[in-house]
Amino acid sequence: MIARQADVVIVGAGIVGCATAYFLACRGVRAVVLERGPVAGEQSRKNWGFVRQQGRDPFEVPLMMEANRIWRGLERELGADIEWVQGGNLALAADASRLARLEAWLPVARQFGLETRILKSSQLTDVVPGLGGDWAGGMYTPGDGHADPQKTTDAFARAATSRGATIHLDCAVQSVTTHNGVVSAVGTERGEIQTPWVVCAAGAWSWRLARTLGLALPQRWVRGTVARTTPAPPVTPCAVWGPGVAFRQRKDGSFTIAAGGALDHDVTLDSLRQIRFFLPNAWKNKAMFRFHVGRPLGRSLVAALPGSAARRRPLVWDRGIEPVPNEEKVARSLAELQRVLPSLPRLGIAERWAGVIDATPDIVPVLGEAPSPRGFVFATGFSGHGFAMGPIAGRLVSELVVDGKPSLDISGFRVSRFAEGAIGKPRNVL
Ligand SMILES: Cc1cc2nc3c(=O)[nH]c(=O)nc-3n(C[C@H](O)[C@H](O)[C@H](O)COP(=O)(O)OP(=O)(O)OC[C@H]3O[C@@H](n4cnc5c(N)ncnc54)[C@H](O)[C@@H]3O)c2cc1C
Repeated sequence: MIARQADVVIVGAGIVGCATAYFLACRGVRAVVLERGPVAGEQSRKNWGFVRQQGRDPFEVPLMMEANRIWRGLERELGADIEWVQGGNLALAADASRLARLEAWLPVARQFGLETRILKSSQLTDVVPGLGGDWAGGMYTPGDGHADPQKTTDAFARAATSRGATIHLDCAVQSVTTHNGVVSAVGTERGEIQTPWVVCAAGAWSWRLARTLGLALPQRWVRGTVARTTPAPPVTPCAVWGPGVAFRQRKDGSFTIAAGGALDHDVTLDSLRQIRFFLPNAWKNKAMFRFHVGRPLGRSLVAALPGSAARRRPLVWDRGIEPVPNEEKVARSLAELQRVLPSLPRLGIAERWAGVIDATPDIVPVLGEAPSPRGFVFATGFSGHGFAMGPIAGRLVSELVVDGKPSLDISGFRVSRFAEGAIGKPRNVL
């Protein structure tokens, strides 16, 4: 049986949905989370686990600094081991031009009082002992950290339910009903729930939910491949982002690794439908993308046919389709890890996976109430860095619902910026 009424319905049990439910429950609000799969079944399980303030768009920095404060006390607050390590974040530069680009971000750090410094090549081994390779230097933020994605999201889910929230799994939202321009209910696979608030935390599928209300949310997917190595002796608590490999060492000694270089984009009909939003930046940064024409395009063509499952059930037809890891990237990232940490014993790959990363045209999230219908709130589009932002996104949404206004400025994340043409080029440097 699902609830028939809720103060707030949250679509999606990733870190954003579960953190929102937790912070709402802490304020005495009856939140119901509806999830079409398991808790943390998508990006919130598959990500690298980096929690960085470093390198972000200036509008995100105050949110991330507040998020960092939350993260530091999160294990105590949620009463759970989430493998939080405050070991800093290091972005490596292989050449002078990359180092100059990182250096150009320092005024942003200074503006917000965020401790971040450029390390010369000779200083890099202070942070990553035994680092091999030929480096021009790096940018280091000592206050950054990393955590286990699945454990963190599960901990938010447990803490939310123990404070009164309800989470229904395998229960997809199929529609949102409005009355006189205001949200009134959501339709699910298991019946309808009356509610004045719907929080869209549906990750990469948010644009589809928005479309059922006639709202345009430009959001595309890129495919990220990640792997976990066999365990090794401790090397560094720092999360490292190099041009060839990004890595963090987990508590059991294994490394989470991902290859640098181009992101995989599987072309689908929707890539073409949203091309006008994404083309300018995709063109400017074309070296960053590798476009694949294959099964996902075929699936999207079949989905467009009259009478197809996608037409009948647009929000769930692709449930259970897992993205395929890029094996060449797995091999490349392991080889690069062994090259930059030459003292490591020979490691193997214990596990590999891929996840779809939702991205907006300006690579910053969409956060806040939609202009219409009233009561429909976006908390999505985190563009590859929303694990770190999950806790603050959840808290700000709870403040929006309860206090009518979040405690930090989120106007730069309004959905209307796309229609207004008020987006610049991406300003993240990582
Ligand atoms: C490979 C990879 C590496 C990344 N690395 C990092 C990193 O190091 N640091 C960082 O900060 N971020 C990182 N990210 C990004 C981060 O994982 C995401 O931004 C974050 O997890 C988004 O959380 P979410 O709750 O919005 O979405 P998700 O975790 O994707 O959750 C959305 C949920 O909504 C559900 N859903 C969708 N439609 C419906 C529906 N109709 N009804 C019910 N439920 C629905 C989905 O099943 C899903 O569980 C990475 C992502 C990937 C894939």
